[in-house]
Amino acid sequence: MNQVIPIHAEESLGCSDTPVLVEKGQREVFCGLTGIIWLHRKIQDAFFLVVGSRTCAHLIQSAAGVMIFAEPRFGTAIIDERDLAGLADCNEELDRVVRQLLARRPDIKLLFLVGSCPSEVIKLDLSRAAQRLSSEYLHAVRVLNYSGSGIETTFTQGEDACLASMVPGLPQSTDTTPRLMVVGTLADVVEDQLRQLFSAMGIAQLDFFPPRRSTAMPPMGPSTRFLLAQPFLADTAKALQARGARHLGAPFPLGAEGTTAWLQAATHAFGISQERFEEATRAPRQRAEQALNRHRPLLQGKKIFFFPDSQLEIPLARFLSRELQMELSEVGTPYLHRQLMAQELELLPRTTKLSEGQDVERQLDRCIAAQPDMVVCGLGLANPLEAQGFTTKWSIELVFTPIQGYEQAGDLAGLFSRPLTRRMKLAA
Ligand code: SF4
Repeated sequence: MNQVIPIHAEESLGCSDTPVLVEKGQREVFCGLTGIIWLHRKIQDAFFLVVGSRTCAHLIQSAAGVMIFAEPRFGTAIIDERDLAGLADCNEELDRVVRQLLARRPDIKLLFLVGSCPSEVIKLDLSRAAQRLSSEYLHAVRVLNYSGSGIETTFTQGEDACLASMVPGLPQSTDTTPRLMVVGTLADVVEDQLRQLFSAMGIAQLDFFPPRRSTAMPPMGPSTRFLLAQPFLADTAKALQARGARHLGAPFPLGAEGTTAWLQAATHAFGISQERFEEATRAPRQRAEQALNRHRPLLQGKKIFFFPDSQLEIPLARFLSRELQMELSEVGTPYLHRQLMAQELELLPRTTKLSEGQDVERQLDRCIAAQPDMVVCGLGLANPLEAQGFTTKWSIELVFTPIQGYEQAGDLAGLFSRPLTRRMKLAA
């Protein structure tokens, strides 16, 4: 049985114009360095050199783990007390570390200098350092910089800053044939499935950004149309638009319905017939719907509360409410990019309580009062909430796990049904 509610505009544009609770207070989030964990796996000839403190080194090391069998593709140049006291020239020190690294690792073709919070790092001009080092290693290594600082950011902004830093260097295309660019880091398996689907629909001029190798950057120009695969890429989208590319607005490819609407945004822009679209998507869509049917009995009617963290909250809430009939207690998002979220907001139930930003104590009070069946939140909140008897889901897991596209729809639902099953077993 197909439980997916078809997308129609008669629902008076969902949450597009409902009031949003905006809060500015204490926040519980990870910093943008976290993005290195999935970015270093994706761009296989890149290296991420964090310019930061011992805290940054600990974060990145404990979150990303140690690569035992391969040479690591991330590291930290620690600005220590000697540097902080102004006894060493940080720029010279940085150049020395980079030279050492590149001499030892000729496989590195793209080096990111990743800025962080400490005040001495903020004072360092990493963009000048990147330019200086890029000219030194001309044609051999490109050196770029971006900030992964945790001041006023969320952990997914690291990817946005990283991708935005690459946009000015994308090769200019003079081809007038429309090209499609899928923007946002996706697991290779998801990328391969999407490539197959687009090819079956007749879209052969297709690129993924970021690419798997930095030497294969996608060309772009005014004929580029791009689809965002991740909702947290506002700066990257702006940089692509500034270079003439056109954004194709769509819900994000989460769930059967979301994936269908996302793919359809491309087929409409590329003039693909509905028949061809149906033919290419029918089988995987049915598989996705069947997979969701298995999780729906457990999830439907359950109340879910989202703390703002990954910026995936709104697309996830739409997926859970429309395709699995969960009840949305509160949907918190760190930032509400109305333009990027327009199609998602239209699909949320009109009564959804949306909040932007965070005042963590007040939000915890609201969560406890609402008594949801499940809470989606950052790691720092999960344990205390579990201790109070709430079932939680770490939002960071939703960024690490392949969840986009038809074939992953069941796995995505499983990420929410599993903690409930576990809690029921523990209570039995
Ligand atoms: S960038 Fe800032 S928030 Fe992130 S680990 Fe370093 S010091 Fe901490």
